Amino acid sequence: MLQWVRFLLLVSLVELCIVVNAATVEERPQVFVSVFNNAGVDAATVLLAENMASRIYQEAGFSIIWQNCVTQQQPKADGCVRILDSRHLVLHIEHQPRTLDADIYGVAFLGQDGLGVYCDVFYDRVAKLHHAGKASEATILGIVAAHELGHLLLGSHAHAPIGIMRPQLQAKDFWAPGLGGITLSLQQTRRISDRLARKQAERSSKQHTASLRTFV
Ligand SMILES: [Zn+2]
Repeated sequence: MLQWVRFLLLVSLVELCIVVNAATVEERPQVFVSVFNNAGVDAATVLLAENMASRIYQEAGFSIIWQNCVTQQQPKADGCVRILDSRHLVLHIEHQPRTLDADIYGVAFLGQDGLGVYCDVFYDRVAKLHHAGKASEATILGIVAAHELGHLLLGSHAHAPIGIMRPQLQAKDFWAPGLGGITLSLQQTRRISDRLARKQAERSSKQHTASLRTFV
């Protein structure tokens, strides 16, 4: 009998854990990123790079929903980018920039108000770093993408002395990304959460006004 009670208790505890975990995942703030692979990077590398960037944001409590969009090299992907705002961002994978310095691997485009939705990562430079033996293309691409998305999510003055938002990453960040050199700080996490929550509240308020108008 005691064993039976124990078993029931165990089952309830396991179920409780499942419910708690499911709720945690659902409640994570979501960011949607439309990816345009204009450099013809193979699809498997892009997926691995997306997973790498996702892991960095998951550790900070965010979910990234990736949408791989139609490009010349990838004509069968989904068409995307229906909404553009702080939660709906666009990542272009380009061969290389025309004007930026040789050690620039990506760029995010922000207005004077600190808002922006577009960023680029430069595949040819990622490939060069990979061939120099630093890490896999997917790891480098994912880390660079995570940094540029960080600029869009944090707004102006996003650089920090530690973590993924350092202005210059080092080779060891790519060799051993699990060592904590590419994380978001608590302060950065709060800043992103606040921006996403504000955007979500604006959206809900607009939807509410729209539905009120419908019923007038
Ligand atoms: Zn930067």
